[in-house]
Amino acid sequence: MAKQFIYPFTFGDKSKSDLLGGKGANLAEMVQMGLPVPPGFTITTDACREYLTTGIVPAQLHDQIHVSLANLEKIVGKNFGDASNPLLVSVRSGAKHSMPGMMETVLNVGITPEVADAMAKSSGNEKFAWDSYRRFIDMFGRIVCDLPDEMVHKIEGEYLKKANVKVVAELSASALKELAQDLIKAIEQFTNKPFPKKPIDHLTQSIEAVFKSWNSERAQLYRRRERIPSDLGTAVNIQSMVFGNLSDDSGTGVAFTRNPATGETGSYGDYLDRAQGEDVVAGIRNTMSLADMSKKEPVVHAELERLMKTLEDHYRDLCDIEFTVERGKLWILQTRVGKRTAEAAFRIATQLVDEGKISMDEALMRTSGDQLAQLMFPQFDLSANQNLIATGIAASPGAAVGEIVFNSKRAFDLAKTGRKVILVRRETSPDDLVGMVAAEGILTSRGGKTSHAAVVARGMGKTAVCGTESISVDEKLLQFTVGDLIVREGEVVSIDGTTGCVYLGELPVTQSPVTSYLEGTLLASAKDATPVVKAVDRILQHADEIRKLYVRANADTPEDAQRAKTLGAQGIGLCRTEHMFLGERRNYVERVVLAENESEQNAVIAEMQPLQQADFVGILKAMSGYPVTVRLLDPPLHEFLPDLATLSAEMATAEALNSTITPRDKAIFAAVKRLHESNPMLGLRGVRLGILIPELFKMQVRALVLASLEVQKAGFDPKPELMIPLVATQRELLYLRETLEEEIKKTLNGAQLEMPIGTMIETPRAAITATRLADYADFFSFGTNDLTQLTWAFSRDDVESTFLPRYLDLELLPFNPFESLDQDGVGLLVKIARDQARAYRKDFKLGVCGEHGGDPRSIHFFHNLNLDYVSCSPFRVPVARLESGRAKVIKS
Ligand code: ADP
Ligand code: MG
Ligand code: MG
Repeated sequence: MAKQFIYPFTFGDKSKSDLLGGKGANLAEMVQMGLPVPPGFTITTDACREYLTTGIVPAQLHDQIHVSLANLEKIVGKNFGDASNPLLVSVRSGAKHSMPGMMETVLNVGITPEVADAMAKSSGNEKFAWDSYRRFIDMFGRIVCDLPDEMVHKIEGEYLKKANVKVVAELSASALKELAQDLIKAIEQFTNKPFPKKPIDHLTQSIEAVFKSWNSERAQLYRRRERIPSDLGTAVNIQSMVFGNLSDDSGTGVAFTRNPATGETGSYGDYLDRAQGEDVVAGIRNTMSLADMSKKEPVVHAELERLMKTLEDHYRDLCDIEFTVERGKLWILQTRVGKRTAEAAFRIATQLVDEGKISMDEALMRTSGDQLAQLMFPQFDLSANQNLIATGIAASPGAAVGEIVFNSKRAFDLAKTGRKVILVRRETSPDDLVGMVAAEGILTSRGGKTSHAAVVARGMGKTAVCGTESISVDEKLLQFTVGDLIVREGEVVSIDGTTGCVYLGELPVTQSPVTSYLEGTLLASAKDATPVVKAVDRILQHADEIRKLYVRANADTPEDAQRAKTLGAQGIGLCRTEHMFLGERRNYVERVVLAENESEQNAVIAEMQPLQQADFVGILKAMSGYPVTVRLLDPPLHEFLPDLATLSAEMATAEALNSTITPRDKAIFAAVKRLHESNPMLGLRGVRLGILIPELFKMQVRALVLASLEVQKAGFDPKPELMIPLVATQRELLYLRETLEEEIKKTLNGAQLEMPIGTMIETPRAAITATRLADYADFFSFGTNDLTQLTWAFSRDDVESTFLPRYLDLELLPFNPFESLDQDGVGLLVKIARDQARAYRKDFKLGVCGEHGGDPRSIHFFHNLNLDYVSCSPFRVPVARLESGRAKVIKS
């Protein structure tokens, strides 16, 4: 049986976008709703897929096009290709997801010189007829025959000059007719083929061109970037024309049911009279606002408002609408749920709740952690004077201001003297790392969201705008140019990594009101709380009410702990004690390493105890009532010592200059050499260090116990937990646990305090032998950073600046596994460990303390695995709260 490749708009609804594409499905939905939609039919994605596999238009499709055309002719009462009563149609591409690179719409298909003549007579408007003809030839030439835009512009230009007018619309009917004929000649020359005469050939060629455009380079690129499968294919919509260019009471426009930029209520849009198709967005003439339109066309405008409300009530969301007015009659040509900014997303969601259209669960679903994160970054104050010079890809969010420099060494040198710089490069490479670290922000003219600059900047949390193609960077002349503008080294620019905007000069930066709210300095109920703050507050509260995952923070200082708590953290999932021995306290570790015997070493360690204890006191106080998981010292000792290469160079110079080398310097050099490891991440660190120098861990335990008792005495409620890093085998855990328990008991000296001891699961071996570890651990915390490194054999610090960007570009990896959990690989290990732990004890406590704890996709994965908590950096806590709530509603 023949496959049905075509459906009239009267079939289907918005749920059928797989088959009919987004545009087609929404057209069908509007027909179902009884809205005035010009009749037409949709060629399915099935037909496109068949074309893409065979390379030819299926024969059945040709037949079905004829049948469908005949039906359409009956409905409209006009005939395709018939000069006396012509039916004209548009050919519109429409895939399930709208994407750049798909074929543009061809309007007025069916028109010929004879048809145009007849249209001139029947409408009494000769110019309208030949403008329609000219538009068809222009579009068919550029879009279907690939005639370059420049050639069209050149020919048009000659006519404009001759007639001394500015835009094509002002040409006379006869000039328009001649222009069309010249365009045909150009097309014939360009394609080296006679221009097809028959409308049916125009139609089928346009349809085929839509199919082909599915595989255009831009579409392929976009699909890869957005992870849209490449085999979906596109639908094609054939729709009878309505003419906004027919008369003074005709026109075309776009409308939004609410403001998509701010979320404000009230319709919002543009209208252009005597215009067709995309004229309204092409900037040929100044458009009217809908308010202006209501003055010119009050009746049509009222009807438009009514239909907009109908559409919004029906879709229960912001709608983006295309319409055309033909001699005072309103037609709707397209609708879809409108794209919106982060601010608008939160505001519109809560408005719709208040209007009784959606539930709080739905409101939560319609916002996202990424949007919330966007709202939290510092922003440029755009009420100030601004000079936007270019727009690139928003690669890493934030607002950065600085003088531009063109090489990394210079960026580093200037930053060292306290200057703020923006590193500008064509693209960056691993050699630029020092400059990237030193710069406030990074601006490149090439590369996309997965370029080296973008990946590394995101990893560092640094603002970046990439792929700013309109600027050309001259790294020799130390300047970049945009058009005629030359910007030289030392000039100040402001770059917005959230929008991709590049401004010349310094723009003031303001803290986002959402951040002030989240940090507790602005109450949602306050008078000066902006609507978006109120909206975020409501949605976040709802997320908190329903979510199952607890959200903790990774924090190492009392200040961070306090901040995390304000941001909504329900405890600390990872307190990295090594951070307490950096800076000035480095010399303690140095002395531990240099100690000549154990008792000397123990003496130094004893000196460290009060420092550590004081830190714990602050953190436990800040987190009173909430668990604080303290991880025992993890990194290799040499991380606290000077770097071997630098030291070697210094020693060599000293020797050459015959200057004296102190015994201490000698000792340090020897120690650094002794401790030097080829693969420190796989060397003496974590639990291994604790086994080699037990006194270190014992001291940490004593400090934590004493701090807890002190805090308890002061009336707080400390809930300390101890966590052992990098465990791989049960025996390590058992050995250490006994030592630690003994130390706890000794230090408590009869006092009462609970101190669970858990282990990190961050080696693959630990994950797959979790059953055995469960015997000796009160909880597990997945250290997904190390687990990712070890599963992939990727050293994070190295791969992100070397080959990872290339891998992402080539799509050898779908995303950076350090940003979002690799669910198939690393995720499987987490799942295995979860299964074993929960089989051992049904309520075995499981958490995540890697950076994935703040990543939306990963959070949904952890929720679905039924883990107890995620822990992330304080700044990500609100995002994790929101996404944990979303995970709950999206799942159920
Ligand atoms: P896009 O997907 O790029 O928005 P569209 O298919 O929506 O492309 O069409 C481009 C323009 O042509 C829009 O302004 C649309 O409203 C207009 N248009 C499409 N079909 C018709 C038609 N049958 N009659 C009048 N205008 C049309
Ligand atoms: Mg378009
Ligand atoms: Mg459109």
